[in-house]
Amino acid sequence: MTESKPRPKLKKEAVAMPKQNPKVRKDNFNEVAQGYSEQDALEEANRCLQCGKPQCVAGCPVEVPIPDFIKLMKQGKYEEAIKKIKEKNALPAICGRVCPQEEQCQQKCVMGKVGEPVSIGRLERWLADWERNKGVEAPSKVPDTGKRVAVIGAGPAGLTVAAELSKLGHKVVIFEALHLAGGVLVYGIPEFRLPKSIVQSEVDYVKKLGADLCTGYLVGRVYTIPELLKNGFDAVFIGTGAGLPSFMGIPGENLGGIYSANEFLIRVNLMKSYKFPEYDTPIRIGRHVAVIGGGNVAMDSARSALRLGAEEVCIIYRRSREEMPARHEEIENAEEEGILCKFLANPIRFIGDEKGWVKAMECICMELGPPDESGRRRPIPAKGSEFTMPVDTVIIAVGRTPNPIIQSTTEGLEVTKRGTIATDENGKTNIPGVYAGGDIVTGEATVISAMGAGKKAAKAIHEYLSKKKS
Ligand code: FAD
Repeated sequence: MTESKPRPKLKKEAVAMPKQNPKVRKDNFNEVAQGYSEQDALEEANRCLQCGKPQCVAGCPVEVPIPDFIKLMKQGKYEEAIKKIKEKNALPAICGRVCPQEEQCQQKCVMGKVGEPVSIGRLERWLADWERNKGVEAPSKVPDTGKRVAVIGAGPAGLTVAAELSKLGHKVVIFEALHLAGGVLVYGIPEFRLPKSIVQSEVDYVKKLGADLCTGYLVGRVYTIPELLKNGFDAVFIGTGAGLPSFMGIPGENLGGIYSANEFLIRVNLMKSYKFPEYDTPIRIGRHVAVIGGGNVAMDSARSALRLGAEEVCIIYRRSREEMPARHEEIENAEEEGILCKFLANPIRFIGDEKGWVKAMECICMELGPPDESGRRRPIPAKGSEFTMPVDTVIIAVGRTPNPIIQSTTEGLEVTKRGTIATDENGKTNIPGVYAGGDIVTGEATVISAMGAGKKAAKAIHEYLSKKKS
């Protein structure tokens, strides 16, 4: 009788991500998470149980075949593994770094029931980095269908539509208002979380698939959508995001030293203020910085302010830690770096000095009431709990809404009360041949949800083009 070999015991804990030391990284803009070694990656891949009915795939808005790519990885077939991912996701190095996996694929991983889920995002990142380091191959071109599609906005939604439609042989031109493609990935998320070179190489991949990129082109001001359709484009996709900052509407908000997170992060990311004097675009940062908000934008602003030399950075959030919408990993990273958090508090006015610069902030404590429409408990001001905090810089990160330029220059385009573009579940607007997806439809959301919307819209556009007579 042959004895069956005992199965190796599966590790309950995920392989830890090597990171820069918090004491060192709080003074530089280099990437915090250093990425797995090959050995780490294989050890983590081996924790995947290869479930018969994998739940993780259902948790991914672009349906990456997760067990399949991990299986190939375990067999050392890295080339095939990254190809498997790219069948569904053209931006794996980006998603591996910034997706909220803990709420998506990893939340559904059965390993999470006995310990920590498999670190799917870190494996995706490792494979994408492996491929980039060896050189990304240009995919073989498919025959031209003769159909032309204009994609407006080069954020994750637009790049996904461009990749999917190029793979099907349609000629795509991406029109981007800024001088660089990537959307929030380049102008919002800082270098220490997502290096710009990584975004650039994934944008290059989309171009290799056949899409043309036209930067510095503000649709609505140069050409409008009706003009694009008249000038030879068969369909249009709108992926213009939600780039307009929201403010609090409280007294003193116009004082010097108060920034919207958008302005602050654009100065840091695109104008490279952290590289002053190499880049002659400095940003004034005080000693005591307050950041208002609890999402990824607040975390990125707070951690950038710390790196720019602030002595103390405090996040003021009106709900509790449990309700914070930021990625868990980034909240932990921020705390490790010494960012302070004041929960259940909200500013009610900013106080200025005689020269018009902010010097303090009056806040009120909050209590949590019943859940609101977002499902989170509603914060309610506690009477008589006002307190004052000295501050010399404030960064407001309380939300973003769509820029109305496209909506106001496209006659008849249906828009919701929130200013987002109305579509069906496949991104179809009320104008034939015009589709939309990403933050411009949902309001501010996530990279992967924008990509998921892009995939659905690309499928619908392809169907539309297949039926359309030239
Ligand atoms: P965007 O990324 O906003 O791209 C829209 C593009 O359209 C921009 O490049 C813009 O310049 C261009 N554009 C706008 N109007 C025009 C026009 N008229 N003509 C031509 N071009 C135009 N999500 C995560 O999943 N994980 C994170 O860690 C995360 N962190 C974030 C941090 C910050 C600071 C911010 C601001 C957001 C973060 N998000 C994160 C959210 C995520 O980045 C967005 O949900 C996502 O980028 C939306 O993609 P999009 O393609 O719809 O729009």
